[in-house]
This record gives sequence, structure tokens and C-alpha cells, in this order.
Amino acid sequence: MPAQLIDGKLLSQQLRADVARRAAELKAQGQRPGLAVIIVGSDPASHVYVRNKVAACADAGMHSVLEQYGAISQQQLLDRIASLNADPRIHGILVQLPLPPHIDAQAVIAAIAAEKDVDGFHVSNAGGLMTGQPLFRPCTPYGVMKMLEAMDYPLRGAHAVIVGASNIVGKPQAMLLLAAGATITVCNSNTRGLAQHTRQADVLVVAAGRRRLITADMVKPGAVVIDVGMNRDDDGRLCGDVDYDGVREVAGHLTPVPGGVGPMTITMLLVNTIEAAERRAAQLQATAVDCL
Ligand code: NAP
Repeated sequence: MPAQLIDGKLLSQQLRADVARRAAELKAQGQRPGLAVIIVGSDPASHVYVRNKVAACADAGMHSVLEQYGAISQQQLLDRIASLNADPRIHGILVQLPLPPHIDAQAVIAAIAAEKDVDGFHVSNAGGLMTGQPLFRPCTPYGVMKMLEAMDYPLRGAHAVIVGASNIVGKPQAMLLLAAGATITVCNSNTRGLAQHTRQADVLVVAAGRRRLITADMVKPGAVVIDVGMNRDDDGRLCGDVDYDGVREVAGHLTPVPGGVGPMTITMLLVNTIEAAERRAAQLQATAVDCL
């Protein structure tokens, strides 16, 4: 029997409806949640991503600001972030990566106030994830966790194999799955005998950016396969890291590309932004009570 597809679009719609409800509640209290998105350079794919993020914000009733820079120095960018850190209308700040080579991405991420770091990339949020108390979880791995949660998948004691070890997907994914009680294997480009590892996976998360890296013979029958990859095939169509047609015959559950993890990433950005705005509103309320 072919794998059951995990519908990231449908789950996203449900989660976004909840975000919209919470945004309306905050607005009624005079606190409209706000996200600032900064993009530098002219990478067409990055421009599509940020437009989608800004549109998703508007759909959920949130305020958003899109700042686009063709040429900007690192210091000018840091100054912009400092003023957004101080702006009470902005609860989340996102700087679209990659940045041009003259800008140190780590310095830019470090400049974002941790309580507005809705991408979850700031070193203090990465440390919080490691110690089990993150202010924000990075959006893509957080979305994957929501998909597994929606399936009611029993992660405790399961073997999760992650292919890819980047700071934005693979490593935080490992931390989140570990925190959920799974046993973790993390693979990278130096891993010997990749298939030996992937065949052990009850849950296989693939985030390598290599199309058709995972074929049917590398998957344990019945496994849950989450394809984070976003690549283009020879005809220019979006495809993942998993050989979809082959793996669908072996896996128990599979995410499609498009329509799987992609929509969840944007959705979790909205979830993180609404959480940031709710925390701020709670702080303001507590301060008001203290002043009474
Ligand atoms: P990245 O920074 O390039 O990291 C890729 C990781 O995969 C690295 O750890 C690399 O190993 C590992 N890798 C590469 N080839 C491998 C191989 N043959 N076997 C095992 N591991 C291998 O990429 P990323 O930012 O994490 O993104 C990964 C993919 O996910 C990309 O296709 C990206 O477009 C996609 N993505 C999708 C979403 C979404 O919303 N759907 C969000 C983010 C990213 P080393 O560490 O040894 O280099």
C-alpha cells in the first residue's frame, strides 16, 4: 500500500486559523502583532520566500514591514536591526538568509534581540534549545514536530535519523526529537554508508539539499519520511531530497514537495511571532498592574 501523505497545507490552515484568532484577541487589547522582514540582495528565490511570509502575516491579521536593500553595509544593517529591536510595534524580526558575502550573518543574527528572534537562530535561542528552554524553536524543525504531533506519532523510544546537520534544520531538529524522547542519529556529508543509517529509521528527516538522495532501498518499510529538501528538477519543478515515487511504495507516511514542510515553515514563523507578541502583551499588563 502506498504511503499516506502528510498534508502540510491542511495542517498549516488549521494552525494559521488559530494564529488569526490569537492576533484578533491581541488587537482587541490594542496590541497588533508585528513582524519585520529584512532582505538584502536580489536572489529571486529569497524574494519569493519573503513575499510569501509577508502575505501570510497579512492573512493572519498581523502587521508586517518588508525592508528590501540592494546595497547596504553591515553597519547600516546592524543599525536598522537596533531600531527594530527598540520599535514597540515590532514583535518579531527576521533577516532572510543567505546574506551577501560582505555581511557576517552570525553578527547580524546576534544583533537581533533574543525576544524578537522569531527564526530561533540567535545563539541564546540555540542554547535554550540545547538546554530545553528555548524562547523560539527554528521554524522548519518546529513545523516537522507539529506534523508528527498531528499524526500522534509515538516518538518516545523511536529511532529518528536526520540527514543533514545545518544550524537551521538538522541540528535543531535533532534537539527537538531528542527532547521528545527519540533516539537520534545525525548524518552529514562525511557519513559512511548513509543507507545503513537511514534503514534503521522509524522517522527519517531529510534536509541535505540533494535531490533524489534517498531512494526506496534506503527506507525501512512503514517508516515516516519527512522531506525537507527544496530543489529543482531538470524541468525546473520543485522537488525534495527524496525519490518520491519510489519511497512512496515503502514508507508508511511521507511528506510531498511541494505541500509538505514548506507551508509549515511559514506557519511556524507566524506561531513564533504571535507568541512573541503575547509575551510582550503579558509583560505590559504585569507592569501596568505593578504601577497600580
Ligand atoms: P545546508 O546548510 O546546505 O546543509 C545541508 C546539510 O546536509 C549539511 O549538514 C551537509 O553536510 C548535509 N549533506 C549534504 N549532502 C549530504 C549527503 N550526500 N549525505 C548526508 N548529508 C549530506 O542546507 P539547509 O539550509 O539545512 O537546507 C537543506 C535543504 O532543506 C535544502 O534543500 C533547503 O532548500 C531545504 N530547506 C527547506 C525548508 C522548507 O521550508 N521546506 C526550509 C529550510 C531549508 P555537511 O555538514 O557535512 O556539509
